[in-house]
Amino acid sequence: MALTRRTFLKQVALAGSAAYLGACSRTTTAEHPPGSWQPAYAGLHAEGRLAERAEEAYRLFERCELCPRRCRVNRRAGQMGFCNASDRVKVHSHQPHFGEELPLVGRRGSGTIFFSNCNLRCVFCQNWPIAHSGLGREVSDAALADMMLDLQERGCHNINVVTPTHVMPNIVNAVLIAVEKGLRLPICYNTGGYELVENIRLLDGIVDIYLPDLKFMDGAESALYATAGARDYPEMAQQAILEMHRQVGRVVTDDRGVALRGLMVRHLVMPNRVAGSREFIDWIATNLPKDTYVNIMAQYRVEHRAFEYEPIARAITSQEFLEAMDWARAAGLSNLDERSLSQAEVHRRRLM
Ligand code: SF4
Repeated sequence: MALTRRTFLKQVALAGSAAYLGACSRTTTAEHPPGSWQPAYAGLHAEGRLAERAEEAYRLFERCELCPRRCRVNRRAGQMGFCNASDRVKVHSHQPHFGEELPLVGRRGSGTIFFSNCNLRCVFCQNWPIAHSGLGREVSDAALADMMLDLQERGCHNINVVTPTHVMPNIVNAVLIAVEKGLRLPICYNTGGYELVENIRLLDGIVDIYLPDLKFMDGAESALYATAGARDYPEMAQQAILEMHRQVGRVVTDDRGVALRGLMVRHLVMPNRVAGSREFIDWIATNLPKDTYVNIMAQYRVEHRAFEYEPIARAITSQEFLEAMDWARAAGLSNLDERSLSQAEVHRRRLM
């Protein structure tokens, strides 16, 4: 019997769900049931060291070196650097989110907090009104802590801080406030990857889940499309990811398949191979365990100013996505995001 497109997509979706359960069984299952599990920061707080970290982080505002741009402005005195952020955190929204990786979404959603402003300037940014234009409202760290507690109250599985680099001190301080009010969800540090490794070290024992992008593997491409001239993105992101892995290792889930801890790396396939997907896969395979959770994403769209740049002024083709997935498999990467695998099947069928 001929397979209709609708039937096929349904089968792919079901296969994706089944594969998701399979993926969960491939990750390490936590020894402790969720009831007894504690986030890393709870231990640090019990030792009396979380407050020290918050103070240490806040000092970084005084001569800001929160990211590789090292603007060295005093944000506590009202000065602003490249990211246009003061020392008051600005939030666009907080809500359960169901579009993240399945181990983050679970059944009740990932508790996302979208921060305004960004230390990157991706010309293809999908969130440019928030990230570039700073759409959002200033809140106190106490109010940010209340948002975390609200997301926990709503049943979310983690606190997913999106674009956190330039407001890391506020986040650490908010976690300190929130843990004293009962926060017990893992913090998911959802970063574009343009990080200083010493600042990631400061998060050791606070963050349980790291979700970095590794967007570009070539300094010239990142300078053109993501970092507004800075060529050190690949090096900075790679150093940071190695440190993240040192801290949290491979993904650990609870008995529901929900992530509790670990590293999950994202890479967006772009037109004309400008993102360096082959180099990305080789780097992961060479520098991290082959079962590192890797999400090779197909959802590139011509957003913001991307239409001004001829090489990226179109969607990716099925071939471009499939070649990246094939490279990943050939390199032995064994823990690829299940929705990427399902999407690859859809693209493969399109080419038949
Ligand atoms: S966080 Fe902002 S002000 Fe600080 S170094 Fe980075 S871009 Fe500059």
